[in-house]
Amino acid sequence: MAKEIKTKNPYTNKTIETYRYFTSEEVSEILLQADKTFQIWKIKPISTRTDLIEKVADNLCDNREHFAALISKEMGKPITESLAEIDKCIFLCDFYAKNSEALLADALIETDAQESFISYDPLGVILAIMPWNFPFWQVLRFAIPTLTAGNTVILKHASNVTGCALAIQEIFENVGYPMGCFTTVLADHNTVEELIKNDLVKAVSLTGSEKAGKKVGEIAGSQLKKLVLELGGNNACIVLNDADLDTHIDTMVKARMLNTGQSCIAAKRFIVEAGIYEQFLEQFTEKVANLRSGDPLEEDSQIGTLARPDLADILEEQVKISIEKGANIHYGNERNQAYYQPTIITEVTTDMPVFTEETFGPVAAIIKVDDKEEAYKLASQTSFGLGTMIFTADVEDAKKHIIHIEDGAFFINEMVKSDPRLPFGGTKNSGYGRELSKEGLLAFTNKKTVYIK
Ligand code: NDP
Repeated sequence: MAKEIKTKNPYTNKTIETYRYFTSEEVSEILLQADKTFQIWKIKPISTRTDLIEKVADNLCDNREHFAALISKEMGKPITESLAEIDKCIFLCDFYAKNSEALLADALIETDAQESFISYDPLGVILAIMPWNFPFWQVLRFAIPTLTAGNTVILKHASNVTGCALAIQEIFENVGYPMGCFTTVLADHNTVEELIKNDLVKAVSLTGSEKAGKKVGEIAGSQLKKLVLELGGNNACIVLNDADLDTHIDTMVKARMLNTGQSCIAAKRFIVEAGIYEQFLEQFTEKVANLRSGDPLEEDSQIGTLARPDLADILEEQVKISIEKGANIHYGNERNQAYYQPTIITEVTTDMPVFTEETFGPVAAIIKVDDKEEAYKLASQTSFGLGTMIFTADVEDAKKHIIHIEDGAFFINEMVKSDPRLPFGGTKNSGYGRELSKEGLLAFTNKKTVYIK
């Protein structure tokens, strides 16, 4: 008997829908179709593909409220943020609709040949394994450039956002992408393993936990398949004595609390210079205490629930062990099923889980340091490498540190955030490869050298 996926609203704890996993025959058929479609899709003019992106944007626009509500119901995100997620997907579509043709054009290179150039050829069927935290954005930021480069896509989405996964497939179908261009599979981990090993799957993109990344990386590696990994993060937010708190405090709070703290690029460790520490803590706490928790579907909710109760269990355990090691709960730390109150922790030391591990929820770890040098040192004292942000009046000095930041991103006087125009990705245990921008468009292409004597 086929196994089931039950999606549950984490706020009401009620089942939304029950789905059955696809049989292996169904998955095989999907794969064969995706490969068959690839053979015709790859030779379509790029303009045909970019015209379709515009239609995806229109569809997102027309169904904005419906998709946003689906996100909020399945994973507990406040509705205003779900709407913003759809808007960001529309912005992504606009960027790739306008720029893909130029970015994918042959790159001429002068040599002693009559003509030599790089041809950006698609690879084939690409498997995407995606997470629940931004259920539309994570999928579309991968799928739009990957499809536009001429590949076809199979999506294995996180099971708790299966409704979103099927809705996204419907968008591609409804706007006229050929059948097999983008297909969602409802599959367990074993089926995904079989898919990765299948010769027809040419590459894999995974966004999710370090654990999932290692497992999928092992399988893809054994098959020598190209892989893009976007894993967890433990970003530092450095606040120096000369930071303008009045201007930036809201950004700092947002950097931690957006999406109820469930973002890989969130500020998880606030490393604050002693001279501004008290003032920072006071202003930060006031803002955090004013965040409205509530029903994710209510427009004035700023904090929803975590996506599943077990994710709150993990967070609670990380905080509990940190307290045992001497951390102080400065604010919050109430928990009720999937709800976790915005929480501020002080007296944090480098051996505590809230410092060493990714905390995927609204928990801010605050670390007081004596000076700037110690701040930079602690910021990079992590196994992750997604990004670092710093707030300071001395931008020129911050720029001198660019070379020393080992992460995929360094933001000065702004929170680390993704933007379709800029590359996105990490170093160290945060993974490898880049999404978005030209990098994302070319990620799953064969950069073929063509030489004509
Ligand atoms: P996972 O990494 O387990 O899930 C992400 C995706 O990977 C899902 O589609 C999941 O499928 C799939 N997956 C996981 N393991 C395998 C496997 N062995 N083979 C094939 N597919 C797999 O994240 P969790 O939901 O368990 O969240 C746990 C933690 O991960 C969080 O607390 C956070 O630290 C981190 N995380 C980071 C994210 C990021 O954006 N970097 C996003 C989500 C989580 P399925 O749902 O079927 O298990």
